Amino acid sequence: MVLKAVKGNAAFQPSPNPKGAFKKSLALAEAILVLATVKISAQDSGWQPVQDSTGKTLYKLERGWLTVILDDTLIRAKANECVEMVLQVNENLPENRNIRWLEIEGSHKQDSSGVIRYFEMMYDTTNRKIIASGDLFRDSMLYKAGIIHESAHAKFRGLPDSGRGLLAGLYKKMMKKAGLEPYLPYNKFALLSAWGIADNDSLIKIFDESNYFSRLPREAGHPFDNENELFASASVVLKYAPKQFLKNLEKLKVESAEKYELAREIARAVLLEWNDSRLFSAKLHKKLGLQHLMEKNY
Ligand SMILES: [Zn+2]
Repeated sequence: MVLKAVKGNAAFQPSPNPKGAFKKSLALAEAILVLATVKISAQDSGWQPVQDSTGKTLYKLERGWLTVILDDTLIRAKANECVEMVLQVNENLPENRNIRWLEIEGSHKQDSSGVIRYFEMMYDTTNRKIIASGDLFRDSMLYKAGIIHESAHAKFRGLPDSGRGLLAGLYKKMMKKAGLEPYLPYNKFALLSAWGIADNDSLIKIFDESNYFSRLPREAGHPFDNENELFASASVVLKYAPKQFLKNLEKLKVESAEKYELAREIARAVLLEWNDSRLFSAKLHKKLGLQHLMEKNY
């Protein structure tokens, strides 16, 4: 797997003090719950064996400023793709919003048959980290969707007021069309009832990633929460299901011209705020009348 060269940006430079970075990485490694102890040769994937303070062998991958230390074989294989995606997404984020580390947490729950049912990914705004439960990394769709969703939150927080304002206006219009109050109070009953309505609303669900990928839990996308969640969920849909999205858009056109126009406006706003045609398909840009974004030189 070839990684793109990262543009000149202070945040992307390798640490001037590799020894310090190495020590820090080991400290981070200690915080990672090792989910399995499968050992394979690391020679083919760029993973170098390192010892933690207890003498245990872990595997380290370094890509510019990003260092990842893992043990589990499966997770290591998936992490290569994660690293590539995080580097690309980071090119789109203001420096003070760059995602620095994918932290793999051990918090996962098993059902009575021992199958892990709980997985979660979140963006830690204070430390600008994506935190994920380890099991997520075994399913490529789940972790890719998760990285884009959480990166979109980081992106959203770095948007200028005009961009956030525009998305807030569209979000409120969307909720009104569905007959829902914007910014629902975060309590179980409001949420359950909103989910019931939102799940059946053709406009809201066009931006809900859990509607596109059966492996995603129903609560993975909640674009009805606020404009930040709308932006994050819409980013996943536009990134990973552009064809299905365009099909759904055509269906919406038949159902309601107003809903169609609003959905199109939201999708356009999301792509315009990302402003990176490499992240989304060329066909999508064309269909939404955003060819000019394709002409940009990178
Ligand atoms: Zn979210």
